[in-house]
Amino acid sequence: MTLTMQPHRETVGLKPGLLYIDGEWGGATDGATWTHRHPATGEDIGELAVASASDVDAAVAAARRRFDSGEWSNTRAQERIGVLRRCGALLREHAEELRGLQALDNSVPVGFGAGVYAVSVEVAADVFDHHAGWVDKLGGETLTPYQGGDHLAMTFREPIGVVAAILPWNAPFLLFAQKVAPALATGCTVVLKPSEYCTFTVLRMVELLEQAGVPAGVLNVVTGPGDPTGERLITHPDVDKVSFTGSRGVGGRIVEASAATMKRVSLELGGKSPAIVFDDAADVGLAAATTIGAVTLGLSGQACVANTRALVHRDVYDEFIAAAEGMAGMVSYGDPFDPGVMSAPLINGTQLDRVLGYIERGKADGARLVTGGERLDGDYANGNFVAPTIFADVDNASTLAQEEVFGPVLAVIPFDDEDEAVAMANDTEYGLGASVFSANAQRTFRVARKVRAGTVCVNGFQIEPHLPFGGFKQSGLGREGGKSAIESFTELKTVLMPLGDEMM
Ligand code: NAD
Repeated sequence: MTLTMQPHRETVGLKPGLLYIDGEWGGATDGATWTHRHPATGEDIGELAVASASDVDAAVAAARRRFDSGEWSNTRAQERIGVLRRCGALLREHAEELRGLQALDNSVPVGFGAGVYAVSVEVAADVFDHHAGWVDKLGGETLTPYQGGDHLAMTFREPIGVVAAILPWNAPFLLFAQKVAPALATGCTVVLKPSEYCTFTVLRMVELLEQAGVPAGVLNVVTGPGDPTGERLITHPDVDKVSFTGSRGVGGRIVEASAATMKRVSLELGGKSPAIVFDDAADVGLAAATTIGAVTLGLSGQACVANTRALVHRDVYDEFIAAAEGMAGMVSYGDPFDPGVMSAPLINGTQLDRVLGYIERGKADGARLVTGGERLDGDYANGNFVAPTIFADVDNASTLAQEEVFGPVLAVIPFDDEDEAVAMANDTEYGLGASVFSANAQRTFRVARKVRAGTVCVNGFQIEPHLPFGGFKQSGLGREGGKSAIESFTELKTVLMPLGDEMM
């Protein structure tokens, strides 16, 4: 039976996508819209407003005004804590509805989303609670003054100002929370731009935050693609900071655009993370399942930190590949509202062509196709589904091992000793994550310290929302998560004062 989203569209109650500027919902001033196509069916799902440069200007002006007035940053701590807690509570209360909206946006299955960090509403709600706890703990230091004890020297953490928060399409709950919660906790005001491929979920989250008591103009939303909406935002002189999650290419453009006004920039970009599996791993099958699972389940490998390269010791190489192939065969596709479905299609036709292109390139470069390697047809023919794909005997210098595929494709590469594994792990321009599988504790720590990546997991694959997260090398700039986020949404101010009357 051909898949259709129409009944779900009605059940979930999708509304047209509007802009939210200074507490008012409305269309784009020039009436421009973008039609969202569902990744699993190709159907038109809904229309969203495309914010023009003047709409973006209005949103930034509102955020600027509300920031400069100090009305949010000077609110009593208990009041701001209460608002952030209510944000978390309302997200939790509406989790099911939000999962449905996400399934209409990016086709992440409702059955997969509940417990998994990156696509979990509940984790996003926890992030709001976590940041509520920071509001009354923002502080500086009292320092020893250079000029002696008759002087005071101290530091303050002050909100960075107007934040442009730009989101990708793949993990709207968590990435919304990791940007908006610390920005609000520190007293910043925000202009948020969701991805044009995942807007409806984010708009509903914003409605819930409005309901939670976030004042008008403190959080604004402009929707639409990179051009014109995103470009105006990143070049706007009144934006103090751009907090971006997305591709390496757009990240580079943001750095370039920031130079004109020295905007603060934090970037969470792509990856080509390795899972390093040693011959003394306690459970090679588990290492294989963890690795192929992260590349095929849920987002179908469209996840920045997924371990898309498996570096496997030659003595357990065949065992690893057999286990990974078995697991790949169990991945289920289809209607994201079917609780038995575990994996999403690729987000759009461009990404589908890109992934199929990488698969052809892998074959041409001599890698051995173990399983998958093709687009799914039949019931899935109207969607962007690609079968879970494993390539073995991949050359670490080849395109498949070096570039971010962003699809359900695992590259398996053999190694003979630890030094070779570490050298290959580091031989990429990215440095977002890694996993090390070994029963030798010294080895796991030794390798974890040598791998140049922002997060290294030992004998597993996990990310914690309150810990620092970000990339070495071209995987990003700065860190999100917990205290790192608080620091990145604040400026450090030093205040000096002589104490003697004669010095005044
Ligand atoms: P993308 O870079 O194409 O788009 C991200 C956002 O940037 C979208 O909102 C888009 O509209 C906007 N944009 C595009 N051009 C712009 C411009 N010129 N100016 C301003 N904004 C612009 O990325 P995507 O396809 O949405 O997401 C996939 C990428 O995101 C992958 O590379 C993935 O690794 C990365 N990602 C990283 C993390 C992380 O935490 N490191 C998390 C999720 C995704």
